[in-house]
This record gives sequence, C-alpha cells and structure tokens, in this order.
Amino acid sequence: MRLKKKLKQSRRDFQGLYECEHCGHEVTDQGLRSYDDAYFHLYVIPSFPCPACGKKADPNTPKTAPDVPAHIVI
Ligand SMILES: [Zn+2]
Repeated sequence: MRLKKKLKQSRRDFQGLYECEHCGHEVTDQGLRSYDDAYFHLYVIPSFPCPACGKKADPNTPKTAPDVPAHIVI
C-alpha cells in the first residue's frame, strides 16, 4: 500500500488513507494508528498487504515522507 493522504493528525499519530498500487483499492486506518516518522513511511507502509488483492508495495514504489523532520520534538 502507499499513503494517499492523511485524514487527521495529532502530533505524529495520524489516520491515513491508503491506496493499493496494484489494484487501486483504498483503505482507511481505523483511528490514529499510523505514525509519522521515517521508519513508518519507509518500512511499515510498504509492508501493508492490500485487503483486496493481498499484494504489498513493489520495492521501487516511491516512498512518502513524514511532514515533521525527525529532530523536531512535538
Ligand atoms: Zn490491491
């Protein structure tokens, strides 16, 4: 999956709208379960299997990045 957009954000916790790059299926996380740091964007999001087709992101899928740089404490 890849992050399509953020629906809500509180500090680094956010609710994301995710889209499958294979079949276009969209899924919203339930509540603020996504975390806006580099690890989440680089490793966690691409490892989400699509609920519709079961595929994960290709290794060459462009990655998103956190809005808040890692050294900023919020
Ligand atoms: Zn899919």
